[in-house]
Parts: sequence; structure tokens; C-alpha cells
Amino acid sequence: MTVHWAGTISERIAQIKSSLPDSVRLIAVTKQVPIEAMREAYAAGIRDFGESKVQEAEIKQRELADLPDVVWHLIGHLQTNKAQKALQCFQWIHSVDSLKLALRLDRLAASLTLEPQICLQVKLLPDPDKYGWTAAELLADLAELNQCQYLQIKGLMTIPPTGLSEVEVLELFEQNRQLANKIQAQNWQRIQMQDLSMGMSGDFPLAIQAGTTMIRLGRVLFGDRQA
Ligand SMILES: *Cc1c(COP(=O)(O)O)cnc(C)c1O
Repeated sequence: MTVHWAGTISERIAQIKSSLPDSVRLIAVTKQVPIEAMREAYAAGIRDFGESKVQEAEIKQRELADLPDVVWHLIGHLQTNKAQKALQCFQWIHSVDSLKLALRLDRLAASLTLEPQICLQVKLLPDPDKYGWTAAELLADLAELNQCQYLQIKGLMTIPPTGLSEVEVLELFEQNRQLANKIQAQNWQRIQMQDLSMGMSGDFPLAIQAGTTMIRLGRVLFGDRQA
């Protein structure tokens, strides 16, 4: 599939949506994107917004409080001291990247009586710039993750390291799907693996090929962000 990085936000959204399989949920990544552009995306049918920072999301949620049916997704690394705020702001947290954070979120969710949907972030290749479990670390932590009573563990999230070829990215996405399948086959009571959060502007067709269920697109919808 060729993506034309041109046109208005509405046109880009329409073009991409029309090319997506029904099984793929489009999350519009709106970090550094102005409110007017977010409203345009909403008018074009977007209901899922992804933000990397809790504070930025909080400000935008106040300004967009009149939009009733938006689902907010946290996609950036979460520091434990912002965990409570994150639970109050986001229905989905894709970037749960350690056992410590998961247990903390579960305790806080219990006290707030919330049941957030989360993905476990994995890193299948060494990457000093990214957080997340290796496959082996994750498999070792599953028994403890399965104790979480309030988190709804939905699947795995991953971001490939920069500099991979398309073939390597596809392989990494497929490995992630296989890891999810393996965990699903273990039949944990409280760990579901039906979702995969993978695919960004530069690689989402490969993620779709590998069976992703959620793609997180920023630049291809809204244009380049300020550096
Ligand atoms: C910024 C970001 C995206 C969107 O990236 P684009 O290249 O703009 O599509 C997706 N996922 C995460 C985790 C991000 O930080």
C-alpha cells in the first residue's frame, strides 16, 4: 500500500481508513499536535487519540471536554510517580514496560476502582533507547502479572529499533505476534493476548501484514512534528 503524505488531515485519515482491514484500530498520535488539528481528526471519524505524556494529555482533555466519545491511549514511557494521574486520564496504557509499573498500576486501579486496558511493552531486539521486557523476561514475569486483579491485560506493544530493513521489521512484528500467541496458549486466567499494538507512520503496512490490531499513526496523519 502506498501512502500519500499530502492533502488535508481529513483526506489523509479517509485514505488510510479506507485501506485498513476491519480488525485494525487506528489510533491518531497527537503529541505536539494542536487542538484544531485534533478537532479536524475527530470530525473525520477519529475516536482514539494517543499521547506520550500525561501532562500534555490532561491539558488537551480539558480543551476537548465537549467531545463525548474519545478514547485516550497513553503510548509513552510512564514514570511511577505519574501512574495515578495516568489512570485518571487514559482508558488504555500501551506502554506498561515493567513488572514494578504493572503492580503499581494494579494497586492504584484498585483504589480508584478502575479497570484500565493495557498492553505489555516488549523489546525483541536490544535497544538502549527503549523500555520494555525482553521475551524471556516477560515469560518469567507472567505468573506475577497474572495476579493483577484490576488491569485488563490485552496484548503486546512493540516499537522496532531504528535502522532495520523492511524485512527485519516485518520479522520483528511477526515474532511479537508469535510471542503473544505463545502466551495466549498458556491459558492464563487474567492475561489476554488478542491485541497487538504495533505499527507507526513508517512501518504500519508491515505491522498489518503481521496481524496487528492497533496502529499508532502520527506524522502520516498530521505532518512532521517540530524536532
Ligand atoms: C510518536 C509515536 C508514534 C507515532 O509515530 P509517527 O512516526 O509519527 O507515526 C507511535 N508510537 C509511539 C510510542 C510514539 O512515541
